[in-house]
Amino acid sequence: MSAEPLLEERLIKRSQQKKRMSPLNYKERLFVLTKSQLTYYDGRAEKKFRRGLIELSSISCVEVVKAGGKIPCPYKYPFQVVHEANILYVFAPSNYRRNVWVQRLKDEIKENPGVLVKFHPQFWQDGLWQCCGQVDKQALGCEAYNPAGDVSRKPLPPVPLDECKEEKVPQPRPAPPIPQSSRDEEGQVVVALYDFPGTEPHDLRLVRGDEYVIEEKCDINWYKARNKYGEEGYIPSNYVTEKTSGNLVQFAWFGKQVNRNKAEELLKKEDKVGAFIVRESSTPGTYTVSVYTKSATGNNNAKEGATLIKHYYIKDTKGSPKQFYLSEKHLFNSIPELIEYHKHNAAGLITRLRYPVGQEDGSAPSTAGFSYETWEINPRDLTFMKELGGGQFGVVRLGKWRAQYKVAIKTVKEGAMLEEDFIEEAKVMMRLSHPNLVQLYGLCSQQRPIYLVTEFMERGCLLNFLLQQRGTFSLDSLLSICQDVSEGMQHLESNNFIHRDLAARNCLVNDSLVVKVSDFGMTRYVLDDQYTSSSGTKFPVKWSPPEVLNFRKYSSKSDVWSYGVLMWEVFTEGRMPFDKKPNSEVVSLISMGQRLPRPNMATPTIYDIMLLCWQEKPEKRPSFSQLCRMICDALEGEELPAN
Ligand code: ADP
Repeated sequence: MSAEPLLEERLIKRSQQKKRMSPLNYKERLFVLTKSQLTYYDGRAEKKFRRGLIELSSISCVEVVKAGGKIPCPYKYPFQVVHEANILYVFAPSNYRRNVWVQRLKDEIKENPGVLVKFHPQFWQDGLWQCCGQVDKQALGCEAYNPAGDVSRKPLPPVPLDECKEEKVPQPRPAPPIPQSSRDEEGQVVVALYDFPGTEPHDLRLVRGDEYVIEEKCDINWYKARNKYGEEGYIPSNYVTEKTSGNLVQFAWFGKQVNRNKAEELLKKEDKVGAFIVRESSTPGTYTVSVYTKSATGNNNAKEGATLIKHYYIKDTKGSPKQFYLSEKHLFNSIPELIEYHKHNAAGLITRLRYPVGQEDGSAPSTAGFSYETWEINPRDLTFMKELGGGQFGVVRLGKWRAQYKVAIKTVKEGAMLEEDFIEEAKVMMRLSHPNLVQLYGLCSQQRPIYLVTEFMERGCLLNFLLQQRGTFSLDSLLSICQDVSEGMQHLESNNFIHRDLAARNCLVNDSLVVKVSDFGMTRYVLDDQYTSSSGTKFPVKWSPPEVLNFRKYSSKSDVWSYGVLMWEVFTEGRMPFDKKPNSEVVSLISMGQRLPRPNMATPTIYDIMLLCWQEKPEKRPSFSQLCRMICDALEGEELPAN
């Protein structure tokens, strides 16, 4: 009985060169990976066409091959499978496909007892190891092997052809360091915050922590960059940060835009004594260390084992040069030095800093599309999974892009959308990339029905989330939801982009409980009078300000009004504004100056923010950047100095 294939693809295989100088040959084979075997066939996956079979239990290493010289077959991305005394070299058609195979194989074999400690990063060819020059095929490897993953190991720079002559033994190439003096001339140096596999051949793979030189800022979301091996390609701008001594974003312990409440959430999720995060305090330019521990008996009046989170201001000596400290006895020239010290010494803190928690959940953010200037998605790269819901345009399904990335796929039913106009606008929408906006990855516009491919949000729409989790929210967690939405909206506002239908039903929640704004600007493409006409049954009357109801005058300030209503939805945990009152009655109430009442869970300060959003005159309403600050202030509490 054949087991379910995990992967199946036509790849090229190199002959095993069992004799020292036998010529090499390359053959296309159908490779099939199952839970127990890697098999390759000449033709269909049937026993009679089988040309080789490797038991996964016999594999000791799977890794990318750093190919220095020219590769004499059409597929240019080699990887190796070391099994017993043999090495199988396989060539994939793209970097991306190679990563898929290597990562999957690594996952399957990582528990094998014989996994190598060291391996050979280059080919065994012409009777010697091209990496270290050893002539014994069984010679110990020359580079540490990472069985856990990291297929993002860097390939070597292309070797000029005249260096690839047969007799010459290529030496391992140490990476040329980026010379300090020429950094400025060559362009900005950045550090990768996340791994980026690169999905298209013109992309450059990023390895978290590595440095890159920016060659061109193609647009706000994509840069052309060069790695330390001289390879060039496109990278997502939100995956890198400028390398300067004062930039804390490059450190795993730094949480950008993490407020006190979010820090506590992240630390509780990590649930380890000594977990910590460094974040910006409410006073700009100052920082706080939030630390997690568990109380011992009698300590701080807390029960034994109870969670204890402390927030310490990082203070500085006002003199020049400025020095930083948590405890006055220990001064440091920089925050990273201070953190390093307190990793080893509690020195007044409740515990030493042991586990950096850092950004959000540590997962990489969405990119603006899957690659630079790539908005058309090949429908063959999509697989459809379960249905997530139904919307104005049609069914929304969970799916996968290239069998790996989870995405939401909206099928646009025919006659529901002004398709041509939308397809043009989609390019603009794709460029709107922010941690609190649901990312549009691209479209399948060459077919009918068209598909919209967006970021997948595991917990579905905010309104249902509020209703389902009713009774479990703290004041801070409700404020945190409002903060997420205000930040997404601030990004739209700063791009002069109007949402037109902001409401809890049009926000989505992901697994890390981050809330993101969705469906921005989409109402302009709806073909449904009930939705577009202000007297229609689907028009969002209860979320609309007077100038929209009376004159259809949309602006970022009309979005601010809707935001106030969304805040109300959040603080009532999902109640319908104006309850069952018909739209016509709501219109007259609003025009007479009546407003929604204060929800029980909203403090007077929070209700004041809502009332500001519902000012009759649009110009009197705050902007989203002002709203962000108000919500942030409402969230911040006091921080402690170290004992
Ligand atoms: P509409 O076109 O009416 O705005 P929606 O975008 O609200 O449709 O989608 C309908 C439902 O599908 C949502 O309420 C939600 O449950 C689900 N859904 C939509 N987009 C996503 C997504 N990106 N991730 C997860 N679920 C989604």
